[in-house]
Amino acid sequence: MPDIYRDEDVILEVRKLKKYFPIHKGLLRRVVGHVKAVDGVDLFVRSGETLGVVGESGCGKTTLGRCIIRLLEPTEGEVLYRSRHDGIIDLAPMTMQELKPYRREIQMIFQDPFSSLNSRMTVEEIVSEPLVVNDIGTPEERRETVAALLENVGLSRAYLDRYPHEFSGGQRQRIGIARALSVKPRVIICDEPVSALDVSVQAQVINLLEELQEKYDFTYIFIAHDLSVIEHISDRVAVLYLGKVVELADVGGLFDQPLHPYTEALLAAIPSPNPDIKLNRELLLTGNVPSPANPPSGCPFHTRCHYRVQRCVDEVPELSLAEGTTDHFVACHRYQELELKPAAKHELFMDQVG
Ligand code: SF4
Repeated sequence: MPDIYRDEDVILEVRKLKKYFPIHKGLLRRVVGHVKAVDGVDLFVRSGETLGVVGESGCGKTTLGRCIIRLLEPTEGEVLYRSRHDGIIDLAPMTMQELKPYRREIQMIFQDPFSSLNSRMTVEEIVSEPLVVNDIGTPEERRETVAALLENVGLSRAYLDRYPHEFSGGQRQRIGIARALSVKPRVIICDEPVSALDVSVQAQVINLLEELQEKYDFTYIFIAHDLSVIEHISDRVAVLYLGKVVELADVGGLFDQPLHPYTEALLAAIPSPNPDIKLNRELLLTGNVPSPANPPSGCPFHTRCHYRVQRCVDEVPELSLAEGTTDHFVACHRYQELELKPAAKHELFMDQVG
């Protein structure tokens, strides 16, 4: 896997990252186990690209994003970041005080624009809060900055003194984006930023994120469960299952030549508006994701995999570079012998929404 110390294009690298939540029981609240939400994730992000992170709900996507930005404390592992002024640093063990200068450089856009904005604050207060926290500008300068940010995300400066309840979902997400932009970040973690929005509004917000990336050269980590959105926006994709990356590849390679059976099953489930394209039911996932408090032995996907053999039950497959590729990583014992089906050719996300 590319190494942030040797590859200057890599801006962020996550190594063996774990986040375990303790399970307490009884009056004494003894720890009787752990929910392994993120269980040894390795991935890297290149500067200026969009890394899509995809998987079913409960696979650890949101927890991973929150550990990277340190809204959650990682249990183990490294979050290596190429900072603007201090070279490569590990964010994982830092105290909140040590993190403060780097918090500005990595921001997050949240999933639910209805609950992520404080309803008692005006738009100006919401968007300028990160500037106040970081002691940037005078009140007058901050008001002007916020007005310019609103215009940048397609909102009028006349909205400065309004409250979140006066806006639609799409407009609220634009306010959330303006807030994230206020401190001039380099990396933005977008946690399902369009999943709570109507499909037509989703396209507008995605367009806006792409325009902003082109203008400011942002690096995005884009977390989503919708593969057609992921296909549209990502340069590379990490597929997560039970807190582990099972496949990591450029978007074309992943959709046209998946190497992991879980990816194949996710691709088979993409609905197509074209009635001639039928879902391949044999490949669809059956059963639920096993509990992350009690993950299966060996390959975490073995309980649902159509291609399972005894080795899959006994041995954990490591994420490693697939033979004959330069940038396609997979964690499957059998990837070389399986001929997995690519995604059906379907209209791209933007074509679907018009
Ligand atoms: Fe399926 Fe085995 Fe590959 Fe896991 S290692 S995905 S169980 S074939």
